[in-house]
Amino acid sequence: MTTTAPEFAGIRAIVTGGASGIGAATARELLARGAAVAVLDLAPDGAPERTVPIACDVSSTPGVAAAVAEAAARLGGIDVVINNAGIGAQGQVDANDDAEWARALDVNVTSVARVTTAALPHLRESPSAAVVNTSSIAAQVGLPERALYSATKGAVAALTLAMAADWVHEGIRVNAVVPGTANTPWIARLLAKAEDPDAERAALEARQPHGRLVEPEEVAEAHCYLASPRNRSTTGQLLAIDGGMITLRTRR
Ligand code: NAD
Repeated sequence: MTTTAPEFAGIRAIVTGGASGIGAATARELLARGAAVAVLDLAPDGAPERTVPIACDVSSTPGVAAAVAEAAARLGGIDVVINNAGIGAQGQVDANDDAEWARALDVNVTSVARVTTAALPHLRESPSAAVVNTSSIAAQVGLPERALYSATKGAVAALTLAMAADWVHEGIRVNAVVPGTANTPWIARLLAKAEDPDAERAALEARQPHGRLVEPEEVAEAHCYLASPRNRSTTGQLLAIDGGMITLRTRR
């Protein structure tokens, strides 16, 4: 009798920002496919059941070092890093002061270097090492009132390619997902602040060629595809899950 092992059997994964939205959907899907998963989050109480929740601020170098060490100890190693924690920033280029620029770059960009660096010794031990970063459509199309946020996500895309080049000969794959506007608590918070939340939601949906927001589970599918131990030749890719927003020009 032949048995098919689960896709992620034996794989140990860490997911930053895995207690909400896209990260939580990814943690759940990795678990469902057989991985052991640690969630590193500022608010780890929201981590999905059966994950290992670890309190971590990805903007703290000692905090990340301790959290990654704890994850590796409790999981028995690390094969997959999903760099997903992130924060928003609104406004044109003159809207944010130096402290806000430093904070957004730290949480959205430097954290990717920080978490991956802490996990690197473990990735080097793994025969199925993969890093998946979370960029955004804001890195590839000009969106209004998103100057700082777009700059951070463009940096994540560039960093993904550079890391992929550095480690391709070591067998550590590095890719990024590029989500369109996704139906997460993040967007719910933005809509709640709008003068007319229903009209704002309708405008965001209309901006998507497929006419709706992207579901977090759809981004989780892409995180898992890029992290999969069955996927050994995909590296240096920026995979859009955007309902066609970056590449399509449609008429309704
Ligand atoms: P979310 O707000 O629902 O979840 C973000 C999670 O990150 C939360 O659990 C939060 O506690 C955690 N977090 C924030 N700052 C942190 C820090 N300093 N240290 C550790 N954890 C921290 O957001 P989401 O919509 O699921 O977004 C997840 C990622 O996807 C972000 O990187 C975001 O930029 C990206 N993204 C989101 C969208 C969207 O429309 N929602 C689109 C493109 C890209």
